[in-house]
Amino acid sequence: MAPTTSSEKPGQGIPSPALIARAPKVLLHDHLDGGLRPQTVIDLAEQSGYANLPSADAHELARWFAEAAYSGSLERYLETFQHTVGVTQTPEALARVARECAEDLAADGVVYAEVRFAPELHTEQGLTLHQVIDAVLAGFREGTDNAKKSGHWIRIGVLLTAMRTATHSRQIAELAVEYRDKGVVGFDIAGAEAGFPPTRHLDAFEYLRRENAHFTIHAGEAFGLPSIWEAIQWCGADRLGHGVRIVDDIDVTDPKNPSLGKLAAYVRDRRIPLELCPSSNVQTGAAASIAEHPIGLLRKLNFRVTLNTDNRLMSGTSMTKEMELCCEAFGWTLDDLQWLTVNAMKSAFVPFDERLDIINNRIKPVYAELKAEQK
Ligand SMILES: [Zn+2]
Repeated sequence: MAPTTSSEKPGQGIPSPALIARAPKVLLHDHLDGGLRPQTVIDLAEQSGYANLPSADAHELARWFAEAAYSGSLERYLETFQHTVGVTQTPEALARVARECAEDLAADGVVYAEVRFAPELHTEQGLTLHQVIDAVLAGFREGTDNAKKSGHWIRIGVLLTAMRTATHSRQIAELAVEYRDKGVVGFDIAGAEAGFPPTRHLDAFEYLRRENAHFTIHAGEAFGLPSIWEAIQWCGADRLGHGVRIVDDIDVTDPKNPSLGKLAAYVRDRRIPLELCPSSNVQTGAAASIAEHPIGLLRKLNFRVTLNTDNRLMSGTSMTKEMELCCEAFGWTLDDLQWLTVNAMKSAFVPFDERLDIINNRIKPVYAELKAEQK
């Protein structure tokens, strides 16, 4: 695609919230334990006798999560997950959370999502890793069916996450391969970046490559270029979870002619997808505001940019909201949103023919309708 900016396209303004809500969306970076409905957290806490919630009122609890997440540090942000993980330690709770995730995403216009979770976090009360994964997959199947019944088609692929601070990555990678024809489409590592470089888990990545399996790595979120470089050149990641710090390798001294360093050029040339999550980055302090978020620059420079939610509960966000924020901040049009959406679908871990089918039959025709309506 030729480099373009939205201002060069006449007759296409910023789409209205109503049009954005109806736009087909593709989401590659969303955490299951970061997307619970506030009322569900409360219900599950009651059912399981979990007594540590800061509030039993859904509205207040939602506000508490957002405030805690806005504290400005990744470590503090991760603390909020103690609650969502604490109430999801049974098959019933896991299935409910997965079912509601599928329903909520479908209602938001998401046609394809890769949702990730770390099975090892849900074994505190004795579930096996297999029981955890089976419960989540069953919940997604049910949620997908329910969404279809209410008129929203969605396809969900699961990513199994290993915690970078722990030592189970090889075992989780083996499970990702074992389950790859049963709903799991890839692997990821997540958790605090500083002090835990992805190369600690080389064994898992080498195994996945030998098995022709896909994986993404959380890299370049709070931590800079060395983390991105390791994820790509040592570990062989298909995509970068966040990867937003790649801007540190772009010299914008002359804003009209940004100059890419060797790593940034490699990422762009190889079309390595960046799973960018603007609201989440603002919350953790990785970006000062949406308007200053590097997604605007990276889109202009035609990196393989994708737009994502990361943690819908903690960030109080949705795909519709992320799109609205970016349209407002960067003047993006429906063309920009379609470009991002097709980028994401091209970067998905499901087979090529399935990606093409969704692009040609679920994404492009609807964007064409919306653009016709806008004129
Ligand atoms: Zn993430």
